[in-house]
Amino acid sequence: MSEVLGHHANEILIVSIVAVVAVGLIGLPGLFALTVPIALFGVVLLSWVAMRQHDRRLCEQCLLSMPLNPSERAVRLKRRFWMAHTGSEPRFLIPYVVVLLASNFATTTTIGRIGWAVMQLSMVYLIMSQSTHRKLQPWCPWCSEGGGGAEVDETDPVLPQDDRQLI
Ligand SMILES: [Zn+2]
Ligand SMILES: [Zn+2]
Repeated sequence: MSEVLGHHANEILIVSIVAVVAVGLIGLPGLFALTVPIALFGVVLLSWVAMRQHDRRLCEQCLLSMPLNPSERAVRLKRRFWMAHTGSEPRFLIPYVVVLLASNFATTTTIGRIGWAVMQLSMVYLIMSQSTHRKLQPWCPWCSEGGGGAEVDETDPVLPQDDRQLI
């Protein structure tokens, strides 16, 4: 179950970010204005954790959803690969997070609210880039160019030892 949840976590995450923006722009009456954003924030956090866990291991559903022509698809999604690499660099990530957080304090004006919405929605593209990159990493031009790449996750699971011979 948790594997299925993890597999769809990025979609849940995207939907809840869009919902956060919608709620922020439209506004909700009474008690909902307080409870709904808190609930959505919880969903965002949970799906983020589920997504990280999913990304760490090989998922059967991901393998099944692999495109038949991954190299062609990778060429078309080149911009997302670039985004996945640039987006994880500290010189981009730190100012991004600062602006992202700061935009929360600018929502008193209309322009501020639009800026806030744009910033929140930009996370959707970042998440999509990361998940595309993870799936099609062997065809990523930046990973192969950089001599191995920075994101190669070589954590082999430690196989359980056969204890029977000890008994
Ligand atoms: Zn998966
Ligand atoms: Zn790459």
